Amino acid sequence: MAAAVKAGAGGGSRVIQIVGQTVPVLVEVGEGVLVRQSQFCQSNAIVVIGCDGVLLIDPGVDGHDLMALSEDLVRLGLSVAAGYATHPHWDHLLWHADFGAVPRYGTEKCVVTARANALDARTKAQRLAPGAPVELIGLLTPLASGAALVPWDGPDVQIIEHDAHAPGHAALVIAHADVVVAGDMLSDVEMPLLDLCSAQEILSATTRSDSAGSPPHSRTQTSP
Ligand SMILES: [Zn+2]
Repeated sequence: MAAAVKAGAGGGSRVIQIVGQTVPVLVEVGEGVLVRQSQFCQSNAIVVIGCDGVLLIDPGVDGHDLMALSEDLVRLGLSVAAGYATHPHWDHLLWHADFGAVPRYGTEKCVVTARANALDARTKAQRLAPGAPVELIGLLTPLASGAALVPWDGPDVQIIEHDAHAPGHAALVIAHADVVVAGDMLSDVEMPLLDLCSAQEILSATTRSDSAGSPPHSRTQTSP
């Protein structure tokens, strides 16, 4: 689940009403940043409004989520310029053809992991996300190693890469709107589980360094 968190103090959220629709689905949590929540684990799809279309982050889970979001964007007159998957878990790799054949980004490690586990992701989506187009799962473009910003024509979206929840996880900071997209690292209904393989890697590196009598050598871990 992707959690979008209002990072700064002050300011409220605003529901984006769509004409003819009785149930509001998009909530503006910061300037030009909208959220649509799925019934699946209260997962949040994030829409960032750019200069010529929107950046769609973790766009939804089942087929209904994806279709509803696509229809809402059409009603609002917004097209999709790019996508982003915060991390390589199956429920963050989904897409719908109506969003268009635009670049869908992830960190290099996220993309490598998603490709390695593509069959498992499709199997889980078929079981847990009815109506989601499984053939579009995880078709990501890797960012350059160490990329600091999402490459798109819109406000700066800063990438904070770490492995705490999944390999190549990226929290996204949208500074102008005081929003952090935490991508499963915060939730009211699901524990933000650690990626134990990464933990083992850190532990092993620390143990090796300790036995060699030198300072621990481990990667910087930045939590969102
Ligand atoms: Zn996850």
